[in-house]
Amino acid sequence: MCEGTIDIEALYWHCTETYTAIKMTSFMRSPWLLDQDNTRSHSACATTAWFHRQSECAISPDLSPILNMNIHNGIKHPGVLFKTTCRYSLYTRTKLGYIFHKRQMRKARERYPAGHSRTQPTIINDIKIIPVPILSDNYSYVVIDTASNMAVVVDPADPQPVQACLEEEGVALQAVLCTHKHWDHSGGNRALKRRYRSCRVYGNVMDNIPGLTHPLSDKDTIDFGTRLRFRAFYTPGHTVGHVIYLLDGRAIGGPSSLFSGDLVFLSGCGRMFEGNASTMLSSLDTVGSLNDDTLLWPGHEYAEDNLLFAAEVEPCNVVRKQKLLWVLQQRSQRLCTCPSTLAEEKQYNPFLRSHSQDLHRALGLQQKQDEDWTSYKEGHL
Ligand SMILES: [Zn+2]
Repeated sequence: MCEGTIDIEALYWHCTETYTAIKMTSFMRSPWLLDQDNTRSHSACATTAWFHRQSECAISPDLSPILNMNIHNGIKHPGVLFKTTCRYSLYTRTKLGYIFHKRQMRKARERYPAGHSRTQPTIINDIKIIPVPILSDNYSYVVIDTASNMAVVVDPADPQPVQACLEEEGVALQAVLCTHKHWDHSGGNRALKRRYRSCRVYGNVMDNIPGLTHPLSDKDTIDFGTRLRFRAFYTPGHTVGHVIYLLDGRAIGGPSSLFSGDLVFLSGCGRMFEGNASTMLSSLDTVGSLNDDTLLWPGHEYAEDNLLFAAEVEPCNVVRKQKLLWVLQQRSQRLCTCPSTLAEEKQYNPFLRSHSQDLHRALGLQQKQDEDWTSYKEGHL
């Protein structure tokens, strides 16, 4: 039996930024919302709450000084909301955003000269995946085919440590795979392209990716030699053109690797800056449909906070408890917490578990007499 109770209202306004996302994600599972019955009071209430929180602080603490704002009694003044929306636009659409990113980059280099976390390469049959810690909690990933010395990098927001890694490994950069436009993922694209002239830059054209040379569509495959085969999945929600990349395990005789950007983190998901819960849910289902042994390489080191949040909504989840103990141990030595596997994530990540009854209870979702909640997403669960 669970012990203790959850003050839903307090949780709602004070827990992590992800709460509204999970609330709406769970709502999307329930038939009455799928019926588009907008008159249901708690549906409308959640939508309003979601709208208020949508433009709040950022997915990354990096963005917080720009976007952060206070909530008073759960209500935001429309003027404040407008200001925040303007700030987000300035960050994503103008040069001011890049100037801000450069400042954050400089500060992070000073604060963490050796990177915010200690990482180790993972080697799968001559394919080497190196997490490169950048900014205050981001990861870029250098993927190397050691047989051909070819390298690809995912989300090189700070070009300096990425270039240092490439030089240390003695490899030539073939391409940048960019998940989305936020500067803490795309900020180094142009610098690396200047340094490695033949380097291609992949991403979705909807996201205005800096330096983009090769626009991608959903499920496009990208081959580098015979062993590095990536598949791009269009996963909007965090941004309008967000893409995740799956390194195909079949070509290398091992598990696949998912580079999930700001869609999915260890025990968490990204904020819905430019999409609604329905869009996000569909993108999360894309992740849920991948093989259980897939390795997850997220864009940020958020494991500790996310697992603490998961404890609020699923207090009795034993797998989550064990993972949190392991993560706390890792983080006490500043060790990187990735990769996890999708099999693990499906056991504790609330955003891949919107079927969980504990979760429904914690969110205060109540089944009405005429509602059948057994019909949602059976095939996926
Ligand atoms: Zn982002």
